[in-house]
Amino acid sequence: MNTAPRTALTIAGSDSGGGAGIQADLRTFFANGVHGMVALTAVTVQNSLGVQGFSEIPVDVVTGQIKAVATDMGVDAAKTGMLATAEIINAVAKTLDEVHIGRNTSTPFVVDPVAASMTGHALLREEALEAIRTELFPRATLITPNLDEVRLLTGVHVTGPATQREAAEALLEFGSAWVLVKGGHLDAAQDCVDLLSDGTSWIELRGPRFDTRNTHGGGDTMASAITSSLAKGAEVPVAVAEGKRFIERCVAESYPLGAGVGPVSPFW
Ligand code: PLP
Repeated sequence: MNTAPRTALTIAGSDSGGGAGIQADLRTFFANGVHGMVALTAVTVQNSLGVQGFSEIPVDVVTGQIKAVATDMGVDAAKTGMLATAEIINAVAKTLDEVHIGRNTSTPFVVDPVAASMTGHALLREEALEAIRTELFPRATLITPNLDEVRLLTGVHVTGPATQREAAEALLEFGSAWVLVKGGHLDAAQDCVDLLSDGTSWIELRGPRFDTRNTHGGGDTMASAITSSLAKGAEVPVAVAEGKRFIERCVAESYPLGAGVGPVSPFW
């Protein structure tokens, strides 16, 4: 008989275009040899041109999914993506405590604080930002904001290494064990430099920037790759380095699809 692979849970929304959200998460888990599980939070109506709207899943169905898989199949690492509302965030936080997932347990928990799509469409109701800061960040092993999310969460406008460090310090105040301030949206001429810190170690991860507009789902894919490595037992700095290598391959192989922004690619 085969033995079970490690498991990872994504608590996130669906992308009808298949580029981001749970679709990206599940194929990233698969590509990294981890069994993926889902607590669906919202259904977006979207294609390569953007998000036309979304409908959230009832809160008890969101928390029910988490409890169902955690109490039976077991979760080796979890991540959040689109959470849509403060009500869902508050309920998810409470449920994670009940099933022992988060920074003060043995099960790592990654928070990708998804606020808007790269096409500028809100994926989070406005009042929910505070719930992410106060309910999710203190429970997180790692948080993975991009620069737009950093600005929304802290007010810090990152323009280079000094402000990237200032942003990381401000974010750590909210209580996560580690923060990864992703520099992908920084000056297009430079390398892509991400900053990882737990307040003691400061680790700069430098990688190439690829000349493509097709980066839809990139944030989700990176967070899921990191979560996969954590599920397999890697320490945070190793998991982040592995996640960065994975997303670099996906961006390098990204493809056009539709008239707008195409997805990062799982095919390589
Ligand atoms: N749709 C869903 C369900 C998502 O979770 C995300 C990002 O997390 C997006 C869309 C936006 O993805 P991007 O910003 O890569 O276009």
